[in-house]
Amino acid sequence: PIYLDNNATTPLDPRVLEAMLPYLTEHFGNAASRDHAFGWAAKEAVDYAREQIAALINSNPKEIIFTSGATESNNLAIKGVFEMYAAKGNHIITVTTEHKAVLDTCKHLEKLGGAITYLNVNKEGLIDLNELEAAITPKTILISVMYANNETGVIQPIREISAIAHKYGILFMTDATQAVGKIPVDVEADKIDLMAFSGHKLYGPKGVGALYVRRKNPSVKITAQMDGGGHERGMRSGTLNVPGIVGLGKACELCRLEMANDAERIGKLRDHLETELLQIEETQRNGYKEHCLPHVANISFKYVEGESLMMGLKDLAVSSGSACTSASMEPSYVLKALGLSDNLAYSSLRFSLSRFTTAEQIKYAISHVQEVVEKLRNMSPHWKM
Ligand code: PMP
Repeated sequence: PIYLDNNATTPLDPRVLEAMLPYLTEHFGNAASRDHAFGWAAKEAVDYAREQIAALINSNPKEIIFTSGATESNNLAIKGVFEMYAAKGNHIITVTTEHKAVLDTCKHLEKLGGAITYLNVNKEGLIDLNELEAAITPKTILISVMYANNETGVIQPIREISAIAHKYGILFMTDATQAVGKIPVDVEADKIDLMAFSGHKLYGPKGVGALYVRRKNPSVKITAQMDGGGHERGMRSGTLNVPGIVGLGKACELCRLEMANDAERIGKLRDHLETELLQIEETQRNGYKEHCLPHVANISFKYVEGESLMMGLKDLAVSSGSACTSASMEPSYVLKALGLSDNLAYSSLRFSLSRFTTAEQIKYAISHVQEVVEKLRNMSPHWKM
């Protein structure tokens, strides 16, 4: 099957694996062991990875905290700010189209006395900056808006959002899991205070991620969510995942060097895929085209049932516009927030390309989708024949 689901996870780049291997074998030391060369080698590798990561996002290496992934980074940032700023306020502003790692963290805080505002998005997936500003209260301690959406690829106006936050002395955090490594993300230019990202979305390994925490501004403080040996300057205890961290570092370095070329090539493939699929009658593209990740296309195929579409496309690994919950298939809440009906959300597909996607694969994907959509529509009682 052809893999076009890179927003779910990317394959490990072989160069990343190569960098990691020695740290799974001979260099097995604990980065916190100060008394011998095994520990020093591990620590050196971790320090180097911190520099590679910092170079990608234009931060200081000391501003990087290693975690188990973006879910943990989001939890650490949001719960950490909530606890640290309890005396100032309990109000957090976020958006309905955030990933569950942010939304469910906020839901949890509501049970602990947090007040959360969930901003809506327009039909293109963007928030309204006036609505954001109007939602701010003297109790607002954090604004958390994702950099780019995992389902639609829509990129929010991050610089404008952080400017509004800072005008009111509020911290700005962003879940940049889908953006880092794919488009330029610069924590200085964007004035980001806290930023979550993850290894397995940028050709690195799973189970490792990072939280960027601004140090130049002393008011950016969080409480730890994992207590113990005081690793990562006390903000995240636990023996460091050295091979994972080495992999994340190498993956970030490769993205820094290759991102511009990759984005241009992949963007053309995506545009071709999209143009061809939108030639099919009764299709639509979801999300703001002018402000979208270069490798993502989200397309709805009216009069086609989502489940049958996925079944028909078994040679194509893509994501559907639904999410399995315990009992049933739910239409995507992200697409619904853009105003899609349940049916249209169900009949949507997310295509996400990668550095390894080829023109041949896209050509095959186009003809395969065309064929399956036509076949299903001819079987559908709702389709005009
Ligand atoms: N945020 C976004 C926007 C994501 O797409 C994902 C991964 N689906 C996460 C957070 C969670 O990342 P991780 O798998 O590293 O916990």
